[in-house]
Amino acid sequence: MERDSLEMDVVFVGAGPANLSGALHLAQLVKQHNQEVAAGKSGKALGEIEIAVIEKGSAVGAHILSGAVMDPIGLAELIPDFREQGAPLEAPVNEDYFLYLTKSRAIRSPITPPPLKNHGYYIVSLNRLTAWLGEKCEEAGVNIFPEFPGAELLYDENDCVVGVRTGDKGIDKSGKRKSNFEPGVDLRAKITVLGEGARGSLTKQITQRLGLDRGREPQVYSLGVKELWELPDDRYPAGRVTHTLGFPSDSRTYGGGWIYGMQNRILNLGYVTGLDYQDPLIDPHAEFQRFKTHPFIAKLLAGGKMIRYGAKTIAAGGYFAMPRMFGDGFLLVGDCAGLLNSQRLKGIHSAIKSGMLAAKTIFEALVAGDFSANQLSRYETVVNNSWIIPELRKVRNFHAAFRNGRWLGLLNAGLQFVTGGRAWGLLDRARAEAGHEAMKKLSAFGYRGDGIQQRYKNLHFDGTITFDKVTDVYHAAVGHDEDQPVHLHVLDTNICATRCAEEFANPCQRFCPAAVYEMVDGGNGQRRLQINFSNCVHCKTCDIMDPYQIINWVTPEGGGGPDYKGM
Ligand code: SF4
Repeated sequence: MERDSLEMDVVFVGAGPANLSGALHLAQLVKQHNQEVAAGKSGKALGEIEIAVIEKGSAVGAHILSGAVMDPIGLAELIPDFREQGAPLEAPVNEDYFLYLTKSRAIRSPITPPPLKNHGYYIVSLNRLTAWLGEKCEEAGVNIFPEFPGAELLYDENDCVVGVRTGDKGIDKSGKRKSNFEPGVDLRAKITVLGEGARGSLTKQITQRLGLDRGREPQVYSLGVKELWELPDDRYPAGRVTHTLGFPSDSRTYGGGWIYGMQNRILNLGYVTGLDYQDPLIDPHAEFQRFKTHPFIAKLLAGGKMIRYGAKTIAAGGYFAMPRMFGDGFLLVGDCAGLLNSQRLKGIHSAIKSGMLAAKTIFEALVAGDFSANQLSRYETVVNNSWIIPELRKVRNFHAAFRNGRWLGLLNAGLQFVTGGRAWGLLDRARAEAGHEAMKKLSAFGYRGDGIQQRYKNLHFDGTITFDKVTDVYHAAVGHDEDQPVHLHVLDTNICATRCAEEFANPCQRFCPAAVYEMVDGGNGQRRLQINFSNCVHCKTCDIMDPYQIINWVTPEGGGGPDYKGM
């Protein structure tokens, strides 16, 4: 097939905060360098450097979802006068609460744990913030290509990354070309930066191909499920932040809630479930719905209206799960590099900083004319010397300690303050476990029959406070052209009705927060897997949590997916 090929200098895959910050900072560094050389400084001008950001969503920010309370340290380094320049900030945080929820009570902690103190930070819509950063990039001359998913990386004969191939458009569900067929474009680049967020599809491929995770702990993830509500009055002011622990999670399962007050009486609430849970009957969406039935939350929502929904995974493994972040012709930034601090529930600041450090590294590589792993290893050095790594090292065993349950995890979280991050005050490095390996079989829990009814038998979707997945997905404004190949590749569907049904009761029906997977009557006396791919909100949970690791999430046609406006 003939494809167009475009020559770029640097291509950033994914328009998230890390890559947009990287592209913007690189454009600034190149401009400054060229001006200084023109003014007589020694050295050679770099001339026009072509920088591109490709994004699978319909617009910058369409697929971006986060809590989010942002520590502004990263943004202040990128754009020191970000407030004056009109960065879309919902509200400065002026009240912090930490609650322990029992089934019926909300017990306020007299002190807010230091990692959850948010004074001086900002509640933001990350969708709006990235859209704004996208505008800044365009003003600086960066080329932004929405609706261009990165389908595969391009390598030369020495396994150096030399660019990215974008996805084809106009292929029907049987794989045939439609009248509007357009082959993907080969974007050739000296350096390709992967900023795809948690469990990026290209990052997964290159990690396996080049062994970027060799010698590291397995990455573990959490899934955040979120709704925005319009409240009828000012009962929860903008700038108030509440985090919760306890109900509805059981003590073996990592989980917690958040409630943030945004402008115009919008309440932003959500629930995080660790994707290393053991009980195969856990359903993170149902956990969130149960969270809202707690008397404290239900009272807060009474009379309000749910207006938006979304779900996304975050990389929670931290310091020991970070992959190698560089190689010949490529760098990893942000959540792709596992830079989120899961104890603080914050990653935007380090994503921005990693993008800036990637830009500095790329700038030096452009000046040196060297794009080898040796040159790009500078990136790991500058990341190590920045504030990112000391912050992550202090909490290096935070998530792994929760493998032993909530109470021991919390004990370890407290001990870290005096032991500088050692697990249990002793171990420098606690062992982690990939989420799909943590999930136990039904028999380990003594479940029989239909498990959903056992774990969530008291949960009813009343359409007022609680909603089923299909209703929620409607509020994520998801759209995919139905006539295209399914982008969720299940490598062996024979397992579904047999081994998986017996061992795990088909957990894909539960861990997917968008009702994509359904076991239906196959018409031959057997059940079969039906994939409602057009519901997919691109959270990547299935790729992470499938116990047999046979679900492969690949990019669908560009522009498809959720539209997280204002989320
Ligand atoms: Fe998330 Fe997979 Fe469901 Fe899509 S199909 S919403 S990626 S779990």
